Amino acid sequence: MPALKECLRGLADVVFPPVCLHCNGLVDGGRLRQICATCDGLIHLVTAPNCVTCGSPFFGEVEGERMCPHCDGLHPKYGEGRTLTLFKGPARALIHALKYHKGLHALADIETLVRASPHITEFIRDAVLVPVPLHPRKERERGYNQTRLLAEALAKAAGGATRVEMLLHRVVDTPSQTTFDRRARRANLKNAFALAKGVTINPPSPYLLVDDVFTTGSTLNSCAGVLRRAGALNLNIVTFGHG
Ligand SMILES: [Zn+2]
Ligand SMILES: [Zn+2]
Repeated sequence: MPALKECLRGLADVVFPPVCLHCNGLVDGGRLRQICATCDGLIHLVTAPNCVTCGSPFFGEVEGERMCPHCDGLHPKYGEGRTLTLFKGPARALIHALKYHKGLHALADIETLVRASPHITEFIRDAVLVPVPLHPRKERERGYNQTRLLAEALAKAAGGATRVEMLLHRVVDTPSQTTFDRRARRANLKNAFALAKGVTINPPSPYLLVDDVFTTGSTLNSCAGVLRRAGALNLNIVTFGHG
């Protein structure tokens, strides 16, 4: 009953007017419900040309092969990577809400942004989306895996046969990554992931790892190694934000 749902939402907006997650101003109109139209204007949806490994956009003239400072030295175990947006400002606020404040309402806006990006929907359509797993202890604490919810929003926006499968399991409860440098991160993540119980990989299927943010790429690369060793031949990655 979309009409009723729309009507109830309208009523809720009158009683509790939505406040912008980024600037705390009122959200009045616009395509997003948790971000005001002014802040929406600050969200940069990435388009080509971009780094084929991490998805970061190249600004200005591109001649030939461009070196990317973000994934230098990564040695990707996957084919290509794309990112929807730059992980800052209002885009960062959406993921932050989803991750730390049970901001499940941010999902609708995330889906709206994905729908507005053929750069992403065409890249992921008909693939098996594989979210980066949380350690079971962390997932119990949080109550959900935000990356799985993000993957489901991506699948809905892309349509076709795009689907989400939890193929990976986080074996090691790695400490917060923020205090490590790149090399320590990579060592820290070695053997942190494994195939989930009972999972078999169909080598030619298009698999696509999903994470909320691309920082050094080490988490995604560690997951990619597991899928590769299990036989995946067609493997790419996608993130919501690059930052
Ligand atoms: Zn705002
Ligand atoms: Zn790159």
